[in-house]
Amino acid sequence: MPLKPGDISTLSSILSNPIEYLKGVGPVKGDLLKKELNIFSFNDLLTHFPYRHIDKTEIKKIGDLTPDLDYIQVAGKIVSCEIMGEKRGRRLVAELQDDTGSLELTWFQGINWIQKTIHIGQSFLVFGRLSYFMGSPQITHPEIEILTPEKKEGKNYLEPVYPTTEKLKVRGLNGRQIGKLMYTLVGLLHEKDIPENIPENIIQQLQLMPRYQAYLNIHFPANPLFYEKALARLKFEELFLAQVRLGLIRSNRHRYSRGVVFEQVKTLFHTFYASYLPFALTGAQKRVLKEIRQDTARGSQMNRLLQGDVGSGKTIVALLSMLLAADNGYQSCMMAPTEILARQHNESIRELLKDMPVQTALLTGSTPKAKRKEILEKASNGNLHILIGTHAIIEDQVQFNKLGLAVVDEQHRFGVAQRAKLWEKASVPPHMLVMTATPIPRTLAMTAYGDLDYSIMDELPPGRIPVTTVHRDESARSQVMDFIKAEIKKGRQAYIIFPLIEESEKLNYENLMKGYENVKAYFPEPAYWISMVHGKMKAPQKEANMQRFIQKDTQIMVSTTVIEVGVNVPNATVMVIESAEKFGLSQLHQLRGRVGRGGDKSYCILLTGNKLSAEARERLKIMCATHDGFIIAEKDLEIRGPGDIEGTRQSGMLNFKLASIVQDKHLLDFAKQHAEILLNEDPELNLAVNLKLKNYLQQQKGQTLWSKIS
Ligand code: ADP
Ligand code: MG
Repeated sequence: MPLKPGDISTLSSILSNPIEYLKGVGPVKGDLLKKELNIFSFNDLLTHFPYRHIDKTEIKKIGDLTPDLDYIQVAGKIVSCEIMGEKRGRRLVAELQDDTGSLELTWFQGINWIQKTIHIGQSFLVFGRLSYFMGSPQITHPEIEILTPEKKEGKNYLEPVYPTTEKLKVRGLNGRQIGKLMYTLVGLLHEKDIPENIPENIIQQLQLMPRYQAYLNIHFPANPLFYEKALARLKFEELFLAQVRLGLIRSNRHRYSRGVVFEQVKTLFHTFYASYLPFALTGAQKRVLKEIRQDTARGSQMNRLLQGDVGSGKTIVALLSMLLAADNGYQSCMMAPTEILARQHNESIRELLKDMPVQTALLTGSTPKAKRKEILEKASNGNLHILIGTHAIIEDQVQFNKLGLAVVDEQHRFGVAQRAKLWEKASVPPHMLVMTATPIPRTLAMTAYGDLDYSIMDELPPGRIPVTTVHRDESARSQVMDFIKAEIKKGRQAYIIFPLIEESEKLNYENLMKGYENVKAYFPEPAYWISMVHGKMKAPQKEANMQRFIQKDTQIMVSTTVIEVGVNVPNATVMVIESAEKFGLSQLHQLRGRVGRGGDKSYCILLTGNKLSAEARERLKIMCATHDGFIIAEKDLEIRGPGDIEGTRQSGMLNFKLASIVQDKHLLDFAKQHAEILLNEDPELNLAVNLKLKNYLQQQKGQTLWSKIS
């Protein structure tokens, strides 16, 4: 359910009245408002916010008009009115005069009606966009109203214009007519109808406009400054309430959800750390391990999101955490989204553990029956320390003796429900370590994943040679192919990636096949061998083709983005991305992460057509300029907006009506800070200053204050 800053659920409030009861609405318009804009109640109307305001506060003197003005309001007498021109040039021209000068008003449409409305000698209030013709001021298609004595001063507020629909427009509810309804509504409201919900001390400290005032001023501000203050207040309210809610969910999990305790670091962890770890951990890896250690020692369930850039070394953090579990007598499992990835995890973990007395096993859809039976037995009798696998490990038949930790790699491939299944595999839910494939923009993490604790690994292991990234268009294709040949001659391998076009699987396939034939023409057998992997292929065939590439039997891997996740072939030094303009930034970054994994200099070549949108150009430029996944994620969010970012949970937390996590980053920071301070001081919102906030949160429909994690 979207958060609405204006939701007021005290049933006695006037705001819960059905919209048709508002003067000027009635049953017909009421139905339309419900259908077209989801406005069912007074409250829904109140939270239908204007997208702009028109300044009619000032009535200008005609003699003071200058060409730099845009929309203006003037008042005067009509001194002439006549039809001029013919055919398409036919127009009604009237002259409006005040005591300082005169102005021409022109209509090309609705001439008959206007002619009936205006009479020479009558006074009008006129509003419209000022333009100049041959040095004299004029307005085409102005709004006009008969001038009455009370209108002589101009309005005392900016006039709001509201979002509406075509259907509503033709039924007399255009953006300004909705404004008239709003005016009626706001006139009915008293301060008690819109009670404060942010603690007084925060209001004072941030000098926020009080809530009631903010609602009046977002609709009918006296001047632009009042509007800005009202808007800022209501945006802050949205973000702050969301942060408080998320904070409550988190702290309640910490306090009320029981978790197994990993009391001590013992032999397995220490032995591995001292004698088997092939490198020194980065500062970021150490920090995250410390966080995990603290989380798992305090007796409540850990629910931690670990985000790190491609290649930042998340696997080793997972392994060390699993050894910690084993040291404390608990089993662990690690789930990966694809068979290839699960297999690689298993291999690299086995390689790291060498002869250590740690029992591991790999379970996937293609594990033979007998082997599977053996693994299930070991898992349930406790003889297995670590189970690595795909979705296969969440199936009901997989039972653990004492599951203490579940690691989920590349979490965006799994739904919440699948993660929840892991919870159920032990009487006390296991600790959860959820790892992302690519960094999530900070602001998105704070909102969409704000109910999880999260760790950031923003440091790559030392000694990595950055991947050189270039953008080339179609005309450079043969040079690019020659470059691949040169690298292959040095003994290296290359990826050539084709985009997935969502609309059509068939088109995808054809596209890939065409690409494959094309590549083959450049790289004929038997001098070269090519592997191909795509989504339509059956798992064993995919696997076989992957293996041929891993074992260097083939020099080129042609593939769709199935290759994106986690695959590790250190000898591959070239990544060519075809139609690179069709990929999102994070995806390009993921793909690029497949090279530069060994000691050799690597290259990423973004191939595109030569006609590109400005946005595509911007994306490619960013890719060539930076390797930092965190920066790339932020840019991706800026360009595409939060809705499109891969892997974002369809979370109500993102449906802010006013605030934007892109444009209002600073407000989000404020909101988070203040929510944290507040919850630290008063975790259950029992202090008198926080009572209004508590009441408000409890009253909100569909949102239970102490709800558990989704
Ligand atoms: P990702 O975070 O993308 O999953 P991996 O865990 O696959 O990254 O690690 C990428 C590579 O970096 C692996 O080959 C791993 O052995 C290596 N690595 C991890 N941590 C370090 C470190 N502290 N120093 C050097 N190499 C490391
Ligand atoms: Mg990984």
